Amino acid sequence: MDTDNNTMNEELARYARAFKALRTMTRYLLEDLALDGALQVVTDTALELLPCEHSSIRVLDESGHELLSGARSGRGNKATPMHFQRGEGVVGWVAEMGRLVNIPDTSRDDRFVTAKKQGFRISSIMAAPLFSNGKVIGVLGVTSTKKGAFDQEDELLLQLLANCAVSPIDKARLKHMAVTDPNTKAYNKGYLYPRMHEEMEKARRHHFSLSLLFLDLDHFKRVNDTYGHSAGDVVLRTIADMVRGSVRREDILVRRGGEEFILIMPHADQDEALAVAERLRESIGAMTIKLPDGQEIRQTVSIGVATWDGKETSEELDNRADAAMYQAKKMGRNRVSVSKKETPKD
Ligand code: GH3
Ligand code: MG
Ligand code: MG
Repeated sequence: MDTDNNTMNEELARYARAFKALRTMTRYLLEDLALDGALQVVTDTALELLPCEHSSIRVLDESGHELLSGARSGRGNKATPMHFQRGEGVVGWVAEMGRLVNIPDTSRDDRFVTAKKQGFRISSIMAAPLFSNGKVIGVLGVTSTKKGAFDQEDELLLQLLANCAVSPIDKARLKHMAVTDPNTKAYNKGYLYPRMHEEMEKARRHHFSLSLLFLDLDHFKRVNDTYGHSAGDVVLRTIADMVRGSVRREDILVRRGGEEFILIMPHADQDEALAVAERLRESIGAMTIKLPDGQEIRQTVSIGVATWDGKETSEELDNRADAAMYQAKKMGRNRVSVSKKETPKD
């Protein structure tokens, strides 16, 4: 009888703990947390509520093929996160099948992929899908060094936590979509001035330089006229990808309008910005852009460079970069032109 009572008390204590943690978590999630923070709250709660040493959320990328690391809590959270494709490993299986999995002994399950540098041993693993609009958008997983660590109630709890992670991910996706151009994945025009303003504030506070490149494709109308609008879209996309791939992570690419892009360059003084502009101009001009029908196109670009004087507004700096770009057009296109102005030193 006593043992029964003890078991019941333990169960009740466990429920009470779960309710408390869930209440705290949902309260956090109602706040306007950034995506990283929101996902971290969910993995922290998983670590607290489930008999595990590690928990992680992975989110499917836009193509739906790769699971990107979202948040991690517990042991080994400093180790380089492993990447999984949809269908690969246990989490990949969950993403593919859309079903929760509870593996009591990883050495007896073919889906488990062993990794050397994970930073922790895994004997049991449990993972649940994150569903939004009937599609899997990510996976929440927990692991333990013990075999058979998770029971049926743990499964329910894990799925409940996974469901809580969906809304912050969806919210962040919507926010991202609202400021992104769907064709080039560059930020859209609405994002330009607010972000410039933000970068100016940072530059002012920390005495950094800030430069702007204004890129305008040369005779782009001819591309559309000769090859059609969708070929033009491919050119825009290819160039945007190329620019993003060859500048620093902190540089921000914005689609200013039709075939015009702005590159916001925090920390870059005029010489650095000019060097980047020259490099971009050269590599864009040297690139052969392949169209879906096999045809190849060459495209050049004119670039205006302007470095913030520490006082101008976003609009004034943008206008100055625009004027420099216009100058480059006048000088014959496929050129870089700098807007001269005294700039404060770093
Ligand atoms: P310039 O060297 O003087 O810049 O000549 P340009 O032909 O590039 O300049 P203009 O501003 O006359 O034409 C820009 C063209 O960009 C017109 C428009 O058809 C094209 N364009 C704008 N947005 C898009 C788009 O989203 N997709 C495609 N395919 N074309 C676009
Ligand atoms: Mg233009
Ligand atoms: Mg143009």
